Amino acid sequence: MGIVYFFIFVLGLVVGSFLNVCIVRLPQDQSVVRPRSHCPHCGTLIRAYDNIPVLSFLILRGRCRSCRAPISPMYPLVELFTGLLFLFCVNLYGLSPEALKYALLGSGLIVLIFTDLKFRLLPNEITVPGMALGILFSFFVPVSDRTLDSFVVLLTAVSPRAEGLLRWSSLSPVNSLAGLIFGAGILFVVGEIYFRLRGVEGMGLGDVKMMGLVGAFVGLKLTFLTILVGSILGTLVGLGEILFHQRDLKYELPFGTFLGCAALLLALFGTPLVPYLLP
Ligand SMILES: [Zn+2]
Repeated sequence: MGIVYFFIFVLGLVVGSFLNVCIVRLPQDQSVVRPRSHCPHCGTLIRAYDNIPVLSFLILRGRCRSCRAPISPMYPLVELFTGLLFLFCVNLYGLSPEALKYALLGSGLIVLIFTDLKFRLLPNEITVPGMALGILFSFFVPVSDRTLDSFVVLLTAVSPRAEGLLRWSSLSPVNSLAGLIFGAGILFVVGEIYFRLRGVEGMGLGDVKMMGLVGAFVGLKLTFLTILVGSILGTLVGLGEILFHQRDLKYELPFGTFLGCAALLLALFGTPLVPYLLP
């Protein structure tokens, strides 16, 4: 089994290396396939032996081989983190569709966390296929947090005919779609209210689509918790920036980064909380 874990970890490192390419290129509308990687400082092509995940960064001591310009520590961190993510998923779910689902969700979230942090952008190339992938996975890996059942029971009190809806209210794809609509919907409404009140855009459509993606993967309850935890994180960091870095209220926080971190934590560790969440 050790060899399987080793292979999965290495696979994660290699995928992480590709995620770095996505993080740097997608927000600038560049291809993630061509051209090959080069040093952003001197333009020298990075040779294959200098492009080994994590190891090359350590061997080169974080500097470009030809111009000695420092290489961002983001690169080895994203690679290491993706490697650990893959290990975690396989350790928890074995070699299964579940492991693949959470490894893919985590990979997408890692890209979004860093593109928002670096560029204040959440690329459509990740969020839009991500939403579709979340729905697709719901056919193989159950998303049934039973939230819709509670709503149907409430509806039945009003109209006994609603009871017929109970049959589909716990179906996985229905719950996935409900999570998508809920996640995207809440962010859209909050963004609209903010825009009407302050006249400036506080939340872009990128955040809306990102929460649609999260909702499609994890369902209603964990999506609600993600927005809650993400908002608390954002508020704390925002207050910190105002108090300690003399930022004013116009400073644009990377809200997608906070939502992404919350989503990643809750998708990987939040499932045991689901039964305790109302309704
Ligand atoms: Zn260089």
